[in-house]
Amino acid sequence: MKKYNLLVFVFSCIATTLFAQMPVEKGLKSINRLSAEAYIQFLADDELQGREAGQHGANLASSYIVSCLKVIGIPSLGEDYYQPFEAYRKERQRKGRLEVNPDSIAIIKKGVHQRYDMRNVLGMIPGKNSDEYVIVGAHFDHLGMDPMLHGDHIYNGADDNASGVSAVLQIAKAFVETGKQPERNVIFAFWDGEEKGLLGSKYFVQNCSFIKDIKGYLNFDMIGRNNKQEQPKHVVYFYTEANQSFGKWLREDIKKYNLQLEPDYRPWDKPLSGSDNASFASVGIPVIWYHTDGHPDYHLPSDESSRLNWDKIVEITKASFLNAWNLANEKDY
Ligand SMILES: [Zn+2]
Repeated sequence: MKKYNLLVFVFSCIATTLFAQMPVEKGLKSINRLSAEAYIQFLADDELQGREAGQHGANLASSYIVSCLKVIGIPSLGEDYYQPFEAYRKERQRKGRLEVNPDSIAIIKKGVHQRYDMRNVLGMIPGKNSDEYVIVGAHFDHLGMDPMLHGDHIYNGADDNASGVSAVLQIAKAFVETGKQPERNVIFAFWDGEEKGLLGSKYFVQNCSFIKDIKGYLNFDMIGRNNKQEQPKHVVYFYTEANQSFGKWLREDIKKYNLQLEPDYRPWDKPLSGSDNASFASVGIPVIWYHTDGHPDYHLPSDESSRLNWDKIVEITKASFLNAWNLANEKDY
């Protein structure tokens, strides 16, 4: 080896070693396709019966998520990983939504009514500054089954939203892999009852004692499909318009880490609809929401694991881990 080549070689070795030891790099390295497949293929299996809130399949899903958090090494937020709650509505022939607000519940309970028992799952990595929180979340419930459907009657919900749950679990693991304690407390949240009216995230926001100390919420709902086949790297990146740094972060990280994504940047003045981001935006918390658009299998039994774009799920998970890292550690945004 010539002297000059040797010098280049030595320098590149040093650079590689230094780079590899950076906490963020360690976290990123842990995010992979095999983990995405493990989480999604279990949650979207027919055995989970479409994970309808209040039913056996959703309870099995939440129990599985708690097991995953324990394996990763994420402690529970409260004494328990579960945040149980009840939702009520009038008996089925009368019009009326499911409600989690105590005032609405009191009125509904006066008549003949339905009751659903649901449960969110909440884990947390305590930060150095214990007064501030950020939340990374996705709903795990879906539409259940319809025995009257001819043929396939299970709504597997692989994209909606087993894909989002896989991202939250992989990000939780990536935080642990960094080996570094974040500045803020980082909550990993898995919402029940989203398909029945954002119930889990609504209940959390209504009952959270530290709601004023939540600095940001990162949401996932459907991150695994291509709306247009010719755009396999397409993802919609919604974020609260007032927080321009959210757009800047993603642009810079895509360049820096060569992430294979072509985001449609959509700053939004009040992100008050679509998914669980609405529960947080309604109380003024800045949000980021990853979503890969509707598709022909949306809310149909054909939303199956075999139709997912696995590479895209992994790239979105990496990009959003970097977002979460910034939310947890950046001074201002
Ligand atoms: Zn959804």
